[in-house]
Amino acid sequence: MPNFKTLDDLPADLTGKVALVRVDLNLPMQGGSASDLTRVEAIKPTVLELSEKGAKVLMLAHFGRPGGARHSALSTSMVVGDVEGVLGKELMFIPEVAGPVVEQSIGILRPGDIGLLDNVRFWPGEEANDPNFAQSIAAHGDFYVNDAFSAAHRAHATTEGLAHHLPAYAGRSMERELTALDSALGNPETPVAAVVGGAKVSTKLDVLQNLVGKVQHLIIGGGMANTFLAARGVDVGKSLAEHDLIETASKIMDEADHSGCTVHLPYDVVVAKEFAANPASLRTCNVHEVAGDEMILDIGPLATEALADVLKTCRTLVWNGPLGAFETEPFDTATMALARHAAALTQEGSLISVAGGGDTVAALAQAGVTGDVTYISTAGGAFLEWMEGKELPGVAALSA
Ligand code: ADP
Ligand code: MG
Repeated sequence: MPNFKTLDDLPADLTGKVALVRVDLNLPMQGGSASDLTRVEAIKPTVLELSEKGAKVLMLAHFGRPGGARHSALSTSMVVGDVEGVLGKELMFIPEVAGPVVEQSIGILRPGDIGLLDNVRFWPGEEANDPNFAQSIAAHGDFYVNDAFSAAHRAHATTEGLAHHLPAYAGRSMERELTALDSALGNPETPVAAVVGGAKVSTKLDVLQNLVGKVQHLIIGGGMANTFLAARGVDVGKSLAEHDLIETASKIMDEADHSGCTVHLPYDVVVAKEFAANPASLRTCNVHEVAGDEMILDIGPLATEALADVLKTCRTLVWNGPLGAFETEPFDTATMALARHAAALTQEGSLISVAGGGDTVAALAQAGVTGDVTYISTAGGAFLEWMEGKELPGVAALSA
């Protein structure tokens, strides 16, 4: 576990102290307002806790990709109304991140008030992680709180640099994410199962390579299972498969053998001749019976049942990537079934389950189990880099 400070390490009374808080307010927008407020809900506990302790809370965030120049459409002022709605408090929008305007605004804010600075990516120093830029922001604050795990894989001025200029703390959302991820792969209860699915091996090579050395069961599903099946000599017909990565897949399976990790590939699959909802050509067969004009679009019921049995023997599950083309019926069947099974084991208290990835989060929501697994990471890129075993600069900078 990285050794970081949390809000518990701050004094109970922060009256008048200026907290610079990096948050994720990169909200998906539709017709001028946010279409999903999950990210605002995530930072609410941290922002309100600091406010209740009397701090003047200044939120720092990026919004879109302005590329180091001002763009009025990418001002964080666009989200003020949405953020106020979730926080239940008025915000002061401050159209700068440093300098006299910020100084004057801090003078106007009362203890407990919350301000939102403009898009940190309006300044080239943000993405360049320019120490002078970080220092100019840091000059306004008494301490720095990072509550944006989803941006922690970037070494930018407000995600990494500020931690070198001010006392640095993990916010509640960051703390929760790091604790959950640590319990899944850092210091997990064993045996650990990893489900890795999704479309392609090529996008998850580093994930697979990291996991084979860490988990006892590696469950491979989705399109990437086809490449592994091909590596085992299975004819996968016209399934999505990366034939140039067959050797890599073989190597991963060898490494797994050496490190005592069991690789689980499906032995039955759901196939069709055309990729459409409930196609006429739909059938379930053994992996050795896939015809040349068929494609594998989901793992089969026997494989799903076998995987459910594997999960019963495990204490920890980390999941990234759906087992089939879950957006199209009935190729969601295995993913839905295993998701519900994992959720049930979690609810019974026998499994710690942590999942992440854009499509994985959507699939778990589709299965109706979002609230029944231990932790769902919505962090996207940062979650994947963590799955790859990489040190995240934003996290490393918080660790004393
Ligand atoms: P995540 O976003 O959770 O990291 P990915 O983006 O890697 O997941 O993969 C999700 C995609 O993989 C989905 O769009 C799904 O339809 C696709 N997929 C899964 N199994 C198959 C398959 N057998 N054939 C083709 N596509 C598949
Ligand atoms: Mg995806």
